[in-house]
Amino acid sequence: MTSELLFASYPPRSMSPDQCIGAKFDRLLEKLELKKTVEDRNVVIKMHLGGGNGFSTIHPFFVRKLVKALKSAGAASVFITDMKRDVDTAIDRGYTEEVCGCPIVPVCGEDESAFETFPVEPPFKTMDRIELSKPILDADVLVDFSHVKGHGVCGFGGASKNLSMGAVTNAMRQLLHAQEGGLEWDDAQCTRCNKCVNNCPDKAMIFKDGKLKIFFHNCKYCRHCMLICPRQAIRIDRGHYVDFQQAMAMTTAKLISHFPDRQIYINMLMDITLFCDCWGMTTPALVPDIGILAGRDIVAIEEASLDLISKVPFYKEALPPKWQYTPDDSKHLFEQLHGKNPYAVVRILEELGMGTREYTLREIN
Ligand code: SF4
Ligand code: SF4
Repeated sequence: MTSELLFASYPPRSMSPDQCIGAKFDRLLEKLELKKTVEDRNVVIKMHLGGGNGFSTIHPFFVRKLVKALKSAGAASVFITDMKRDVDTAIDRGYTEEVCGCPIVPVCGEDESAFETFPVEPPFKTMDRIELSKPILDADVLVDFSHVKGHGVCGFGGASKNLSMGAVTNAMRQLLHAQEGGLEWDDAQCTRCNKCVNNCPDKAMIFKDGKLKIFFHNCKYCRHCMLICPRQAIRIDRGHYVDFQQAMAMTTAKLISHFPDRQIYINMLMDITLFCDCWGMTTPALVPDIGILAGRDIVAIEEASLDLISKVPFYKEALPPKWQYTPDDSKHLFEQLHGKNPYAVVRILEELGMGTREYTLREIN
């Protein structure tokens, strides 16, 4: 079996407005034949709204076009959702109901109580349950609108990560991260500079009696502390990243199984940065802007996204100072940079029956 994906490439063939990526996106949405999927149905758009000084999330220009297209196709209602923290500051990055054309709501409600729990039997390592967003489960159609970029923990962030880490409770996110391993602090290396504490986005660290205390209840294993530490005094056990990918894939699979034949995936291959949008900052793009992929198969779209990134030049100048990486043509760029094979989660999703890695690209003219 092969899945067809639509592909709007960013570079225009000529300097004509109808060749720009905005115009191609309009044509891509037409070709998606949204009407047959969304007419008279309630549609949720899951996207990552980012945080802090990050501005490399999906541009509101494209969000507005998508919402407009869904409404034109007869959707009964449309809303956008993401983690509460990022919804609360979404206006800073240009996302408002007025601009986007639909409400923007926290993924598990205002007080994190809107979720459903599904047991994992037998448990996978310590993952004994999956807690999924009730607002998403209550919708009829899922649009997974993802910005593709690197990710220190997952290897890369795309359609799967947008759901597995973004359509769940905070507790579930921690449970997923915990499958990778724990944080270790080296007392002897630490100078007590407090950079880790001050840069933890979730206030999961303090110094008490001269010792670093980590509140694993709050920690989301984002690695900000580890990477900002000038002494490499904080480490994460990276040996279990495939277990983490497995846990993410199981979570994604559980969610999308609720939407048989009512899933739409759009991957934005632009502003492809080293780290995730949750970093609270934007760094230069690692590669040229590539374009937009869309389809109805999460496995195919993730595979194609990674393949397309492999085919474009890499801007070494985009890396932070002293960033260690090992050039190796036999490995994907993200594996060279983060030490983790980004295809792992795609392969596991295929094994779980969520789609196929075989795809064809239908280019939007
Ligand atoms: S950033 Fe590193 S050196 Fe500074 S307090 Fe934290 S662990 Fe210690
Ligand atoms: S990994 Fe992230 S959330 Fe956890 S302590 Fe470090 S900075 Fe805080």
